[in-house]
Amino acid sequence: MEKKYALVTGGSRGIGRAIALKLGSMGYHILVNYVSNEIEADQTVQFIVDNGGDAEKIRFNVANQVEVETVLGAWLISNKTEYIEVIINNAGIKKDNLLMWMTNEEWRSVLDTSLEGFFNVTRFLLKGMLVKRYGRIVNVVSLSGVKGMSGQTNYSAAKAGVIGATKALAQEVAKRKITVNAVAPGFIHTDMTSDIEAEQYKKIIPMERFGQPEEVAAAVAFLVSREASYITGEVIHINGGLYT
Ligand code: NAP
Repeated sequence: MEKKYALVTGGSRGIGRAIALKLGSMGYHILVNYVSNEIEADQTVQFIVDNGGDAEKIRFNVANQVEVETVLGAWLISNKTEYIEVIINNAGIKKDNLLMWMTNEEWRSVLDTSLEGFFNVTRFLLKGMLVKRYGRIVNVVSLSGVKGMSGQTNYSAAKAGVIGATKALAQEVAKRKITVNAVAPGFIHTDMTSDIEAEQYKKIIPMERFGQPEEVAAAVAFLVSREASYITGEVIHINGGLYT
């Protein structure tokens, strides 16, 4: 059977790892991207393999265009007959601060990772999808990018930017059977939220709990599936009723 490839940026930990595992169980060969945490990336690959799937790690900083194009370019050269059918733009960071006190670095690095990262990876791989006339792109955004979150002007702007790009790109590539959608998690248990006082925030979430990475991965898996072929330019909210 023909191998199908899916790239998960930030697949070493958290939501990205859960997505990598889920798509691995659907038969995709997973490219597990990471930037610094090789041990965790190896672990994600191992989990997929232990589960009967197929995966490899691939290190690049999504914010660095030269690095993205060099590493993915090299992969495409050594896999000449293949193309990456699924892109999950998941890599992201947060550096919260009130705008009044926000440093240039806090603003830039958060936008560079989510918004530039989306651009760098997607533009480079889109050609393959256009040629093959099939593809699935899912962007992991956030409730912050939909409603805005105090202390997160950088993060909210980055995620709102990706939502706009999702809707625009969806219209550009629809006739080539490429869908572009986003998932917008609320509070999910990962390293990113480990500094948040869960008990305090649970009170404002109708389901009175944080979500699990697997609950985000399930929605991503649906958007990637053939069954979701008529859904594009959408944002699926996964937040326990916090925002509807
Ligand atoms: P996490 O546990 O902190 O994991 C972040 C992942 O992104 C890691 O795999 C990390 O790689 C990777 N990464 C960070 N910067 C990167 C870069 N420049 N290039 C390549 N990879 C990079 O975060 P998470 O909670 O799973 O978040 C995943 C996505 O969901 C993010 O986009 C985040 O904004 C979004 N999100 C999360 C929540 C939540 O409550 N957790 C809510 C809404 C949206 P290394 O392991 O190498 O560091």
